[in-house]
Amino acid sequence: MTGTTPHETACAEMQLLIQADLDGELDAAATAVLAAHVRDCPGCAGLQADMTALSRNLHGALRPLPAPARLRAALEARLAPAPVVRLRPRLTLPAFSFAAGAALAASLLLFIPFGTDRALDAELFNGHIRALQATHLLDVPSTDRHTVKPWFEGKLDFAPNVPDFAVDGFPLVGGRLDVIGGRSVAVLVYRRDKHPINVFVWPATGAEATSATRDGYTLRRWTRNGLVFSAVSDLDPADLAAFVQLFETRG
Ligand SMILES: [Zn+2]
Repeated sequence: MTGTTPHETACAEMQLLIQADLDGELDAAATAVLAAHVRDCPGCAGLQADMTALSRNLHGALRPLPAPARLRAALEARLAPAPVVRLRPRLTLPAFSFAAGAALAASLLLFIPFGTDRALDAELFNGHIRALQATHLLDVPSTDRHTVKPWFEGKLDFAPNVPDFAVDGFPLVGGRLDVIGGRSVAVLVYRRDKHPINVFVWPATGAEATSATRDGYTLRRWTRNGLVFSAVSDLDPADLAAFVQLFETRG
């Protein structure tokens, strides 16, 4: 992220929203964010037009597109048995071309989530991206767990513990409420350097553990003390795994 302007960051996030939109996975709030940005940004408007046309061509094609050798190799690599966590390099806007768009669109069609609940995962990724877009990362900005924990009381029908891992390099920065799957959830927000980590929390109905990746974001879900935790971040997957392990042992 170093060396990029806020506008470039916004445009990079818009690429994710454009892709998610074509996948039919954007909620109303994210759709509005995208529409507002595209109105004022010719670059992203052009990208959206290209991606939409491309998606239509791919879906409407009666026979498969001839895949160039490099694309074929990339797809075969993607279909090979995957490690638990796998990231696709992000595309930067200036480097975007029709060929890159074709590879990107094809890889989106083949994206296979690791979780069993694709819609829920999409909502969590959207929730993370939405929080970065808007000014709604924090309802209660505080590094003090004794401020954040009581803030949730009376707003939710469960009381999440709010651990702080500042000494481990993951300081708490605050919390907020969000809506996931039609229910109010707690979101605990941490940071590793400049990378925010959103931890969505709600009561568990069973044991759940999963991980998924999407466009450079990683999702890890685990269950502890009757609650489901879903951490989403653009953090290095190994760093996020270390964070989750702290949570699982000391959260
Ligand atoms: Zn833009």
